[in-house]
Amino acid sequence: MVRIGAHVSSSKSLDLVFDRAIDIGADTIQFFLNSPRSWKTKTRTEQEIEDFHTKKNKYKIKPTVVHASYLYNLASEDKHLREKSIKGVINDLHLCEELDIDYYVIHPGKAKGQTEQQAIEHIKRSLDYIFSKTQTKTVFLLETLAGQKGEIGKTTQELKELLEAVPDQRAGICIDTCHIFSAGYRINTEEGFDAYKTELEALIGLDRVKLIHCNDSKTPFNSRKDRHQHIGEGYIGIKGFEIFLNDSYLGKLPYIIETPKVGNYDQINIEKLRKTVKYAQCVRSSNG
Ligand SMILES: [Zn+2]
Repeated sequence: MVRIGAHVSSSKSLDLVFDRAIDIGADTIQFFLNSPRSWKTKTRTEQEIEDFHTKKNKYKIKPTVVHASYLYNLASEDKHLREKSIKGVINDLHLCEELDIDYYVIHPGKAKGQTEQQAIEHIKRSLDYIFSKTQTKTVFLLETLAGQKGEIGKTTQELKELLEAVPDQRAGICIDTCHIFSAGYRINTEEGFDAYKTELEALIGLDRVKLIHCNDSKTPFNSRKDRHQHIGEGYIGIKGFEIFLNDSYLGKLPYIIETPKVGNYDQINIEKLRKTVKYAQCVRSSNG
């Protein structure tokens, strides 16, 4: 059965992510270790880490996913920012190991003033260094991006090049439905979805895809914008999610929503996705 969850707040204490997951009916969760728009890091006490493990074992919410800070840029031509980002990632991975986190998701980087190829080379060198300095069980995931403001990771080809810099078992990709649609993959039609899946299979291999960020898009197809919308209320539409969640391979991965935080919408979006699975299964079985 597909596991569906959400990005939740980790404010006050890390163990509260599990209580927040229960409140919205999530089977899996993602959270930030620190504020994603600040370089400040919090010191975690042994008690906090112990409480995290206690609740993790009790509630059986899995997989657990950490999302990296938005400030990191492993592609930066500014050596200071690049080194600060690398250091941030290494520190995060050490904490992920202590917390026994399954996946660590990061935006590959932004070119900003460089050619895309230069940016890709910087990311590859940064990843190489990070992997040489860490030995964690947490699997490192590069996220598919929309391509706004020089973002690298907007095509499967770019992700393929980046993955060449990292060991197979320790790294993979996280597909964000909003980002790939905005980047020019028409995944909300059967033909568009099949073409995307075929490209993934040919360039990267489906086994490298470990997680889906499940968001509708506030902006149209190929807009190169990263604006998430509630499930079924954006340009992707409910049909796109039906296709994804019922796919023989991608439909078995964990799904995490990162939709706008309004009222009880997390719960509503999770429920909508669950119904999508049942609905399509019904339709398929009634068609024989
Ligand atoms: Zn992300």
